[in-house]
Amino acid sequence: MLLFRDVCAAFDVIESKSGRLEMTDLLAELFKKCTPKEAAYLCYLIQGIIAPPYEGIDLGMGERFALAAIASATGYPSFEVEKHFKKSGDLGDTATEFSKKKKQLSLLSNDLSLEYVFETFQKISKASGSGSQELKIKLLVELLNNSDPLEARYIIRFVNGSLRLGVGDPTILDAISVSHAGNKSMREQLERAYNVCSDLGLIAKSFFTSPSSIASFHVSPFKPLMPALAERLNTPKEIIEKLGECIVENKYDGFRMQCHKSGDRVEMYSRKLERMTPMLPEVVEAIRNLPQKEIIFEGEALAYDVSKKRYLPFQQTMHRRRKHGIEAASKDYPLRVFVFDILYLDGKDMTDAPYADRRKTIEKLFLKGKLLMPSEAKKLKTATALEAVFDASLSAGLEGIIAKDLAAPYAAGKRKFAWIKLKKSYGKSVDTIDGVIVGYYLGLGQRAEFEFGGVLVCVYNPQSGKLETVAKVASGFSESEMKQMQELLSRIKTPKPPANLDCKIAVDFWVEPKYVVEVAFDELTQSPNHTCNSKGGKGLALRFPRVVKLREDKGLSEITTSDEVVSMFELQRGK
Ligand code: AMP
Repeated sequence: MLLFRDVCAAFDVIESKSGRLEMTDLLAELFKKCTPKEAAYLCYLIQGIIAPPYEGIDLGMGERFALAAIASATGYPSFEVEKHFKKSGDLGDTATEFSKKKKQLSLLSNDLSLEYVFETFQKISKASGSGSQELKIKLLVELLNNSDPLEARYIIRFVNGSLRLGVGDPTILDAISVSHAGNKSMREQLERAYNVCSDLGLIAKSFFTSPSSIASFHVSPFKPLMPALAERLNTPKEIIEKLGECIVENKYDGFRMQCHKSGDRVEMYSRKLERMTPMLPEVVEAIRNLPQKEIIFEGEALAYDVSKKRYLPFQQTMHRRRKHGIEAASKDYPLRVFVFDILYLDGKDMTDAPYADRRKTIEKLFLKGKLLMPSEAKKLKTATALEAVFDASLSAGLEGIIAKDLAAPYAAGKRKFAWIKLKKSYGKSVDTIDGVIVGYYLGLGQRAEFEFGGVLVCVYNPQSGKLETVAKVASGFSESEMKQMQELLSRIKTPKPPANLDCKIAVDFWVEPKYVVEVAFDELTQSPNHTCNSKGGKGLALRFPRVVKLREDKGLSEITTSDEVVSMFELQRGK
């Protein structure tokens, strides 16, 4: 039985370490002590979730409830707890402090096991209906009553969604492999399995039950796959040199949807694998009416303005991902989905079939659809032909094209040259990156009014597991965007920088690394201030960066990597 105290002690050390190897070893030691069920719980705990993201389950406990529970468990008045929290800025630290000076000692102080703690979290998440808030607090108070100060810190951080250990999924996969094999030799198999089901808890549980089971993991409905990602090149010529004959498709600027159907059940998942089904009733209906019994396919959804007979731009399309006014929105701005891949059909995993075959299936199944239709595509083999398609897509107001390797399987969770994007450049700019915001600045002059003057943006280095800074961005925000950014970012302020941040620059406020922005720039330069690929020396930085848009559809795992920035820098030099 794994004690929760041991888990917290390891978390405490992990927080003070920055090296990925050390984190991996500490976690591997924990996994060694786990039963299969405990291994699943440990994965979710580190990820800060109660169930895989696509189940859309959260604890439903905000700051207010956590504060009330700390007060009730320790015997201090709420205002005192709140005062401390305002100063510390970290609910976990506040929980630790009050737990140290607890007024009431619990009569039944038991050792908490990981299993007991996690299953209490599950109970908290399941409580619903009248009296549920009281029940949630009661369950949390019981946990706090039995916890020591360090345990109290992690319990409160978990329920408040602010665990921030700085441990990414790749590190967890490494740790699982190391705990069993003593090295990372099982990592690739584990990662493949994770990419086709996106449930790390399930992977850990299956693996520790029977390590060989992981090799036969396959695609199945209602377990979303990690989306395949596109590489980029700068010219039609480079694309043809890389792929030869290929299929070139319009790159639609909407939101990506992974659609699953089995019998009457239909679910749709976003690019971040969040369940979107309730927001898009007209799409659910169209999928339910498909003659196939079981199917998983992917497409890009765009909102269509019925009265003006045209597609809406990205920002307006994104308004369809809402929780209210769904009926009216689905009538006035119904979605059209351009299907661009098929992953599963009537019991058959299609991910290993070459794209040329998958494309034929898409055309056969969706050709006559009014709402679900194939993405526009053309098979071609010369740079001139590709350029013509690219120009036509820009004239039609689209973002550019994606060229696809005819022979490639579907690369779940991977960025490969199976898909290559060629995008419109913004003004003089070479390209754009997708980076995560780690901090923000107060505005000067006119911007002071918005309490927002710009953001510090990072890319990700998968080798070190670090977020590396690449730009301070102050341009590209309209007044309403500045207001929106201030509102979003002020809610996720943190007292300390993210644990895995490599940074030499100060900010006014650190934030949880959550929001992804697309940033355009004129060129890449070397800078002593930025840490992107700096290896201790000069890093790479964006020159004249400006925000193109907030990418709420993208998650942390999809931001540009430092390696990609390096290859963009090399492309730029070669020009
Ligand atoms: P990017 O977001 O710039 O990395 O480009 C990849 C994204 O383009 C995918 O995640 C899709 O959401 C979107 N996309 C639009 N049209 C297509 C298409 N025909 N094939 C694949 N992806 C597409």
